[in-house]
Amino acid sequence: MTHSVPLYLDGEFVESQAHRSIANINPATQLTLAQVPCTTFEEIDRAIASAEQAFKDWRDVPVPERARLMMNFCQRLKDQQDDIAETLSQETGKIFADAKGDVWRGIEVVEHACNIPSLIMGETVENVARDIDTSSYLQPLGVCAGITPFNFPAMIPLWMFPLALACGNTFILKPSEQDPLTPMQIAEIFQQAGFPKGVLQVIHGDREQVDHLITHPAIKAISFVGSARVGQHIYRSGTDHLKRVQCMTGAKNHMVIMPDADRQQVISHLVGSSVGAAGQRCMAISVAVFVGDSVQWLDELKDAMSKVKPGLWNEEDAGFGPLISGAARQRVLGLIEQGKEEGADCLLDGSGFTHPDYPDGNWIGPTLFADVKPHMSIYKEEIFGPVLITMHVDSLDEALDLINNNPYGNGTSLFTNSGGAARHFQRNVLVGQVGINVPIPVPLPFFSFTGWRQSFYGDQHAYGKQAIRFYTETKTVISRWFHHGEEVQRPNLTIQMR
Ligand code: NAD
Repeated sequence: MTHSVPLYLDGEFVESQAHRSIANINPATQLTLAQVPCTTFEEIDRAIASAEQAFKDWRDVPVPERARLMMNFCQRLKDQQDDIAETLSQETGKIFADAKGDVWRGIEVVEHACNIPSLIMGETVENVARDIDTSSYLQPLGVCAGITPFNFPAMIPLWMFPLALACGNTFILKPSEQDPLTPMQIAEIFQQAGFPKGVLQVIHGDREQVDHLITHPAIKAISFVGSARVGQHIYRSGTDHLKRVQCMTGAKNHMVIMPDADRQQVISHLVGSSVGAAGQRCMAISVAVFVGDSVQWLDELKDAMSKVKPGLWNEEDAGFGPLISGAARQRVLGLIEQGKEEGADCLLDGSGFTHPDYPDGNWIGPTLFADVKPHMSIYKEEIFGPVLITMHVDSLDEALDLINNNPYGNGTSLFTNSGGAARHFQRNVLVGQVGINVPIPVPLPFFSFTGWRQSFYGDQHAYGKQAIRFYTETKTVISRWFHHGEEVQRPNLTIQMR
């Protein structure tokens, strides 16, 4: 009998009274790790009520004290990062080095949240009119909610609640039902860090729980990361209920390769950024666009990709792990078949890969397509598997047209040795995160994560200064102090010219 993943409710880890649960399965071995309860609505309401209550005091905790608690949390995360990464590997299948990266990129956001006294500073102007000053303050909103995807179960929850809390809000997290053990381990570390009870709550479930949470009147802001389909639903539903919403969604990231680029760098970076983490990264390169003669490097690319083997999280020679679920594997296999049927040239087919010791795992080997056209399903859909598709164009402008006509705008990169080409590309591409000879351009947390077009719905992005804006309301105070005995003017009935 596997254990039920607890809720983190009102400062305690408690068993849910849920009538329905979802199995949390190791994607390599297929062993059930735990049962994920679909939290009852009554429990969700209790979590929200507790977070509302906690907000009353938390908003008044001095900012340096909030920062100190965050520093304590951050140090504990650093001390236990390998343990968290091991849990993460077990439930996602990620190889250990990659799991450690997932945890570390989250810790970097907590480090950023420790800077809250500087980040939350408002603005002041003295003497905007005679004897009158104006100041602005950033004040917390109240109870915020976060809904996170399966592919970064440490990093993405840490994109959200540390910054929301540092700003003085309280937070309800609904992690992915496919890998909730990692965020629960983080919640345990959070509890040990000494925060007041109720400032963070964790509930579990799927669509039903999310819909109840995001339409609840007490929720002021919603952060979502996941697929575009669900992100659109959450954005519409959240804004219909007059909430502030940010949705970081799906992607189709192109890497453009100019003939003057460094060939070996291109091959190495293309392999790592396409099939790393089994292609289950929102910033994975899923389309390689060869310009002119660089297309001759395809054979070498195929050779390099064929050497990468999927494997277990702790196998030394494993390049990446299995897909998250049997359903995800079936979906990707379906798209590979569709690619072949629609006329793309499958140079390397990983559909038949199985691990000799774990044949039931959700394995797919590296897969490479050439001659892909924009109308094909493998170009139009986010595949989210270890599948790289390649296209050939004659010029950089043709590559730019292709990218700018794709509905997504999360990340892109250009490999070249020409400064002129790089500048033209970075200035004209309609994508929010651009790498020049950098395949996966994910900004560090003092910048923001800035997907564009259908990769993002909202206006303030995740982390960086924009997250501080997202999790706060600006209050402007205009003040004037009268001098003792100052002459009282006649009532003024007009707008004054200064
Ligand atoms: P998903 O959209 O299936 O699930 C994300 C979250 O939404 C989960 O917590 C899930 O329980 C919940 N959910 C699922 N269906 C729902 C519904 N109908 N109504 C309400 N809630 C629902 O995404 P996923 O498969 O877990 O994650 C992969 C996706 O996330 C990919 O599309 C990837 O590109 C995207 N992603 C984007 C970013 C980014 O920053 N842009 C980062 C990571 C992942």
